[in-house]
Amino acid sequence: MCGIIGISSNRSVSANIINSLKKLEYRGYDSAGIATLSNGTINEIKSEGRVDILEKNFDLKNLSGNIGIGHVRWATHGVPNSINAHPHSSHNVSVVHNGIIENSTLLKKHLVSKGHSFKSQTDTEVIVHLITENLKTYDLQEAITKSLKQLHGSFALGIIFKDIPDLIIGARRGSPLAVGYGPNENYLGSDSYALKSMTNKITYLDDGEFCIIKKDEVNFFNENGIKINKKVLELSTDQKNYDKGDFKHFMAKEIEEQPATIKTGIIEYVDNINNDINIYNFPWKVNEIKSITLIGCGTAYHSCLMAKYWFEELTKLDVNIDIASEFRYRKNRFKEGTLYVFVSQSGETADTYAALDLCNKNNMKTCAVVNVIESSIARDSNFVLPIHCGPEIGVASTKAFLGQILVLYILALKFAS
Ligand code: GLU
Repeated sequence: MCGIIGISSNRSVSANIINSLKKLEYRGYDSAGIATLSNGTINEIKSEGRVDILEKNFDLKNLSGNIGIGHVRWATHGVPNSINAHPHSSHNVSVVHNGIIENSTLLKKHLVSKGHSFKSQTDTEVIVHLITENLKTYDLQEAITKSLKQLHGSFALGIIFKDIPDLIIGARRGSPLAVGYGPNENYLGSDSYALKSMTNKITYLDDGEFCIIKKDEVNFFNENGIKINKKVLELSTDQKNYDKGDFKHFMAKEIEEQPATIKTGIIEYVDNINNDINIYNFPWKVNEIKSITLIGCGTAYHSCLMAKYWFEELTKLDVNIDIASEFRYRKNRFKEGTLYVFVSQSGETADTYAALDLCNKNNMKTCAVVNVIESSIARDSNFVLPIHCGPEIGVASTKAFLGQILVLYILALKFAS
């Protein structure tokens, strides 16, 4: 899963899309692309490799348009090359996509039988043709609502239309997506970090929702196409957290910040006056919890592996750990006395979110250990334990790993006491 940017403005957008894609580079990706809309034409540029290769290969001056979408791809379906790079377009619809469409093979068969031809090996291209097909029968909002319901899997989408010149659609299920608000322009982004260079006013889409972004207004809709109101959040503007400063790499800076992570965690969670753990707002009686399941991916999963020893040593709880990407594919026995703890730096890890969603649907007790407190995993858990280590940009986790194990250790102490 990689990155999406969209801008609807009263001025040319391609240079700002490139700049924002560069902010998403820290996530790692294999190819990049942009589509803009000008005078009833979708202009598309894509290439394998880094965003600066895209810049070098194409003259951005030729990529005019006040509306555009951009993408950095991490291939799941089809090799990394310029054909499989996003955006993918039909004669009138262009799409960027993060995530995986699980029923793409079936949908593709159906769309081919209706006369659609495919250029790429991606799952994403079915979204383009599905919307194109539904637009033959329905108006924009109905076509989007219907198409989203036909898709299985996870997605964050940015969509533009040749014949509808003033808007971008954003849609979310499973993969994170946010809207940003600027002067005479509005934005779509898969990551608040990319949007932060343009605005600190943000609305996160929740699962199942979609939005219509114009340069001077944004409207939100639920999965049935009914208009809804959403809150605008103001993010901190402390830009120094987002700069490398004198460090050569973000990772070096973040390693230097590890002592501060520990200090902040101890100040937050240790009540020296009462000699206690400051998790006083824990929403359940500790003795209601008979077992604990720790869930994460990658580094966060390794935090869970470490924490299992502490929970077993310090408490009487049964302790399980689960790798989030497997959780929803197993036959879980959900038990009332189990606390499910979801560990994720960003709070947006798609598999971890999917595991949380399954637990919520089964009315389980859920707790998030995250760095980003506005994130989807934090918002949808019953209880949040932030690790407060500031933005971690380096892909190899350092201070966030330390923050996670500290908070999990403190939670184990809380149960022990
Ligand atoms: N599944 C899509 C592809 O392989 C999207 C990958 C991504 O999230 O970057 O093109």
